[in-house]
Amino acid sequence: FIPPKDIGWVEVICGPMFSGKTEELIRRIRRASFAKQRVQVFKPKIDDRYDANAIVSHNQERVEGIPVSDLKEMRQKLDPHVEVVGIDEIQFFDQGVVDFCDELANKGCRVIVAGLDLDYLGEPFGPLPRLICQAEYVSKLLAICVRCGNPAHHSYRLSTDPQQVLVGSTDQYEAICRRCFKVGQ
Ligand code: ADP
Ligand code: ZN
Repeated sequence: FIPPKDIGWVEVICGPMFSGKTEELIRRIRRASFAKQRVQVFKPKIDDRYDANAIVSHNQERVEGIPVSDLKEMRQKLDPHVEVVGIDEIQFFDQGVVDFCDELANKGCRVIVAGLDLDYLGEPFGPLPRLICQAEYVSKLLAICVRCGNPAHHSYRLSTDPQQVLVGSTDQYEAICRRCFKVGQ
């Protein structure tokens, strides 16, 4: 990966739960920090599972993250001199976040977003489809199916709660493959 010289760009890290999206976002953010770039990471306030002021992966890696309730708050808290912007759990923001990422990239920022591309029903999640289309770089990660060991791209909800947004971890969700997802339906 040879980064552009003098323009911004958008990177998307997508995939199911437990595929290592947050781990990968943390890795990229840490490298930018080591390179002394000005970095900011945001996350939706809805996701306060581990720490209110950090993004934390399932294997307990963490970097500082600013919780925001919506896009408006993210705009307000944006450092005007920021060089690298990370956003975790991007699926929880509205469609406006796609233009926000575009604006940042047009200003010269490197934008790295991570999020679920499919909801628990296997349908595209919120702004992800448009983000994936508009980004220069897309990484789709897979987890390991907990039932059969195949590559998993579904996040299967164990509870029967029908709302699209239900924050949880291994107590609520399983990573499963295409075949096990069909069997479970
Ligand atoms: P995501 O942000 O995609 O939910 P994280 O980066 O938070 O993923 O966590 C990834 C970590 O989750 C893995 O490194 C591993 O330790 C753990 N993990 C738990 N269940 C699974 C699974 N079924 N497949 C792969 N990794 C899993
Ligand atoms: Zn399976």
